[in-house]
Amino acid sequence: MEVSFQKEIEQLRLGDGDTFHGEGILAITKALLQSGVSYIGGYQGAPVSHLLDVMVQAKSLVAELGVHVEACSNEASAAAMLGASIHYPVRGAVTWKSIVGTNVAADALANLASPGVTGGVLMVIGEDYGEGASVVQERTHAYAMKSTLLLLDPRPELATMVNMVEHAFAMSEASNMPAMMELRIRACHVRGSFNCRDNRRPAISALSPLSEPGRFDYGRLAHPPSTFRHEKLKIDERIPAARRYIVEHGLNELHEGEHRDIGIIVQGGLAPALLRSLQQFGLADAFGHSAIPLLVLNVTYPLVPEQVVAFAEGKRAVLVVEEGSPEYIEQEIATHLRRYALSTTSTTAATTAAPGTSSTTASTTAQTALHGKDMLPAAGELNTEAIMNGLLAFIERHLPQHEAGLVAAMLAATRERRTRAATQLDAALPARPPGFCIGCPERPVFSAIKLAQQEVGPVHIAADIGCHSFATFEPFSLGHSILGYGMSLASRAGVSPMMQRRVLSIMGDGGFWHNGLLTGVQSALFNGDDAVLLIFKNGYTSATGTQDIISTPGKRAKAEAGDKLASLTASDRTIEDTLAGLGVQWLRTVHSYRVAAMRDTLQEAMTTPFTGLKVIIAEGECQLERQRRVRPWLADLLKRGERVVRVKYGVDEDVCNGDHACMRLSGCPTLTLKDNPDPLKVDPVATVIDGCVGCGLCGENAHAATLCPSFYRAEVIQNPRWHERAVDAVRSLMLRLLQPA
Ligand code: SF4
Ligand code: SF4
Repeated sequence: MEVSFQKEIEQLRLGDGDTFHGEGILAITKALLQSGVSYIGGYQGAPVSHLLDVMVQAKSLVAELGVHVEACSNEASAAAMLGASIHYPVRGAVTWKSIVGTNVAADALANLASPGVTGGVLMVIGEDYGEGASVVQERTHAYAMKSTLLLLDPRPELATMVNMVEHAFAMSEASNMPAMMELRIRACHVRGSFNCRDNRRPAISALSPLSEPGRFDYGRLAHPPSTFRHEKLKIDERIPAARRYIVEHGLNELHEGEHRDIGIIVQGGLAPALLRSLQQFGLADAFGHSAIPLLVLNVTYPLVPEQVVAFAEGKRAVLVVEEGSPEYIEQEIATHLRRYALSTTSTTAATTAAPGTSSTTASTTAQTALHGKDMLPAAGELNTEAIMNGLLAFIERHLPQHEAGLVAAMLAATRERRTRAATQLDAALPARPPGFCIGCPERPVFSAIKLAQQEVGPVHIAADIGCHSFATFEPFSLGHSILGYGMSLASRAGVSPMMQRRVLSIMGDGGFWHNGLLTGVQSALFNGDDAVLLIFKNGYTSATGTQDIISTPGKRAKAEAGDKLASLTASDRTIEDTLAGLGVQWLRTVHSYRVAAMRDTLQEAMTTPFTGLKVIIAEGECQLERQRRVRPWLADLLKRGERVVRVKYGVDEDVCNGDHACMRLSGCPTLTLKDNPDPLKVDPVATVIDGCVGCGLCGENAHAATLCPSFYRAEVIQNPRWHERAVDAVRSLMLRLLQPA
């Protein structure tokens, strides 16, 4: 990874008396160090990548503190690290993107949660939900419930988030439950400030290692019969301990309001959107004071039944603002209120009222109307507009004296405007899906797949997670399924036996190391499957932020020498060697930009009589990383007056016949259209605009697909040598002489 996080690392060094200014996810990172963690691990993914990226670069800081940082190969290995806390009083934190990462980590999490922890454990979870999300839309809450994990959803304000990190460790220790903290995209990127504390050097760490391992204790193994006792401990001791901690430390926030006979219970992460919505109704001010009482749940699992009941007590109606489906929190609140009402009714009937309750309380709680998904959308992000629509229904029903006509009219106008815009824009504008970067090495391979299918016929394509999934969009539209990170080859096993033509599985090198090597390659080899796997070897887990992997090109050279040229030319055959070692017999490595060679290799893989696993490695470095490295290097050369050659491609507008086949094979954003300069032709011509990085695909496609000869390749020489200036002068003179006056 070529991005530097030196400024962020300086922020992590702040101590007592300093004020931190910055993003939410960096504040969380600082809070981990203030909490005295012994180790930090994880697997990158939006919106929490920043945490691990910064820590991986903060080598000197973590060395001073004795904190171990591990960039894990997947979320399961990150979750497994937390097992250290089962035996030793060490605090540990890991991070990943959820829900997908939690799915991968689920096995380790269940086996961690069963024996419970000694030192505090915190998983910082990027809840990638709603608009802008890049994964399936499910909730992490389900895992907290099924495995008995603490789940924090802090109000996205930096001081609160930092405070909750520190409480999460302490609560984990008080209850022996591992803790998760879910952070939505906006919580990770919200900016603000908080008063820092000194970073804490952990008592047990790489600097102060343990002299002896922990004693053998069968009761700490997630193994029967211990697991039967663990289950009882969860219910009888751990959850009650967590509830006590929540109440004693006031983790959930209670805000009084003038309208005491109604109330709103909200997930902490949604509190700002709720307050902003209430503000539109004139029911909250800009400083967060609400006229309707609020219970802000900074801890959403477990709930505290007494707290929920006390909040609902004496209220005619309560609205639960909860994002996503199923409505776990709403259902749990309904259960607590109902149980309480029933228990107090029966107790009252027996005239033995419980301390602190009365028959009036019992009857009012039983009659509290509970709303949630009947007024708010069951699916999708709860943005301000969605919450306002739900609030409108709640207010009209339970606060009818409050004037809400203006808001109702505004919401109706917004709906109408959106419908109108969608109708008009749908007709006027094409969709603008995300796509490959300019010069991406994966684009040429999909051009080659299109060309190969012309020869062998259409094939079923098992796609995967990663940048290459952009090929599911126009102009390629390639990929029949995406079953999870690194799962393409495994997913093909159920399809390929039923296909006349071989199935093509596509995987990135990130997916290969994350999961694909074992779930796909090992399984295909073991079963002797007739399968074709295409691996993009671009050198990084590019889609998550271009983090390094074990096969990153020139990783060692870069680390040792920081030599730009060495890293540009370094070759790494880790993937090839691994595959050969496992027993893959049909293995080809083809440069990504060699379209004709890739087309021929794909055709060969699809038609060869060899019936085992066939693997094609498409080798070409991620262009984003390449440009990050090359641009400053070239700028430095230019500053020193040295010669620099840049390659550009272009289209001769007089030759372009306007059929745009080149675009259908490429999709590069810098290969676009312009008006035809010939007044007798109406079709626009192709043109290459500024931004072309000279990857060469235009020329390769023109050659491999036998397109029109309109593309040209030009070399732009800066700081040319004397003989190049002389040649240029002669050429310019000849052109002037040959052109008519
Ligand atoms: S980040 Fe790299 S691999 Fe991903 S689209 Fe951009 S150039 Fe291609
Ligand atoms: S050569 Fe073609 S495909 Fe490559 S960056 Fe330039 S315009 Fe895009």
